[in-house]
Amino acid sequence: GSTIGILGGGQLGRMMAVPAAQLGYRCIGFAPEGDNVAGDLCADFITADWDDAAALAEFARRCDVITWEFENVPVAAVEQLPQAKVPCPPRALEIAQDRLLEKNFVEELGGRAAPFAAVDDAADLRAAAARIGTPGILKTRRDGYDGKGQWRIEAAADLDSLELPGDSLIYEGFVRFEAEFSVIVARAADGAVRFYDSTHNEHRGGILARSALPAPAIVGKQVEEARDLARKVADALGYVGVLTLEFFACADGPVFNEMAPRVHNSGHWTIEGAVTSQFANHIRAVAGLPLGETTPIAPRIAMDNIIGDAVENAADYLTEAGCHLHLYGKEDVRDGRKMGHVTRLFRNAEQA
Ligand code: ATP
Ligand code: MG
Ligand code: MG
Repeated sequence: GSTIGILGGGQLGRMMAVPAAQLGYRCIGFAPEGDNVAGDLCADFITADWDDAAALAEFARRCDVITWEFENVPVAAVEQLPQAKVPCPPRALEIAQDRLLEKNFVEELGGRAAPFAAVDDAADLRAAAARIGTPGILKTRRDGYDGKGQWRIEAAADLDSLELPGDSLIYEGFVRFEAEFSVIVARAADGAVRFYDSTHNEHRGGILARSALPAPAIVGKQVEEARDLARKVADALGYVGVLTLEFFACADGPVFNEMAPRVHNSGHWTIEGAVTSQFANHIRAVAGLPLGETTPIAPRIAMDNIIGDAVENAADYLTEAGCHLHLYGKEDVRDGRKMGHVTRLFRNAEQA
C-alpha cells in the first residue's frame, strides 16, 4: 500500500510525515478540530470527532495502513477500523492509556515500578499514603502529559486540604533517582527490534527540557536491563512501530515510570543524530519494510525543547553552526506548550 493514515494531528505526526514522503508514501491525517499541525505535511487531513463512525470509515477506506502519533486516541475508534490495516494491536494503546494497567502489565513482565496504589476517594488516598509513605505523587490514571494532572504530596498532613478531582487516580511513591532515561525501541512486524541509544532526559516543571548523549555512567549500566524489559513489553503486545519506556536510574537499578506507544520527544535527536530516525523507523515498521540502523552519527548530541514564549527567540538558532532548528507551526503560544526543538551535534568534547 502507498497511503499511510495517521491518527492524531500533533508535531509527532508532522515529523512522521517527512520520512513517509521520502519513502514514497502519502499520509492522510485524522483528528478532531484543533491546532492540527500534522495536517500541513499530510496530503489530506480529515477533521472529525473520534466517535464519528462515518468519518473513520472514510479515513480507513482511503488508507492502506494506519498508525497513530497520539497515545490517547480512543481505543474504540481504533477498534472500528479494519484491523488488517492496523499493524499494531490497539491493546498497546489501551494499556498505555491507563497508568494503573500499564504498571501492572510491566510488573507482570518482571519490571519494577515505584510503589503505587489505585485511588478513587479520600479514604484510598489516606491508606495509600500510609502504606507507601510520603513524599509521593498523585496522578490521574488517564490523559496526563507534560506533568499535567499530577500533585506532589509532601506529607500526610497535605491530604487534609487536598480536593480530589473526579478522575480515577494513582498514588506513587516519590523516586529519588540519579537520572532519567528512556528506551526507544523499534519493532518490525516479523519481531525484529532495534534500540536507540538512551539519552539522559532532564525535566523542568514536569516537562522534558533536554535529552542528551552520552548519558551518565549510571544510565549506561542500567540500559541492558531496561532494554530487556522493553523488548518483553513489545513482544508481549505484538507491537509494531516505535515504543518508548521511561525509566528512573536509581542506585539499586532501573525503575519503570511509564510507557508511550509511539515515537517520543526524547527521540527527536535521531532526526539528524542517528542513521535512521525514530520517525523513519516507525514508518518502516508500520509499512512492513526492514528497519534501519539506529546508530548515532556523533559522539555528543543534545536536543533542547523550545517551550512557550521561548519560541520568540528561535531565529537565533539559525545562525549557530551545527544547530538544527525545528518549529512545529503551532498557532497559539501557551506557557508549557512544546513549540519546537533544536538538536546540536558535536564531533568532540571541545565543541560540546
Ligand atoms: P510525559 O510528558 O512524559 O508523558 P507525564 O505527564 O505522563 O509526562 P510522568 O512521566 O509520569 O508524566 O512524570 C513527569 C515527570 O515527573 C517525570 O519524568 C519525572 O521527572 C517526574 N516524576 C513523575 N513521577 C515521579 C515519581 N514517582 N518520583 C519522582 N519523580 C517523578
Ligand atoms: Mg506520559
Ligand atoms: Mg513521562
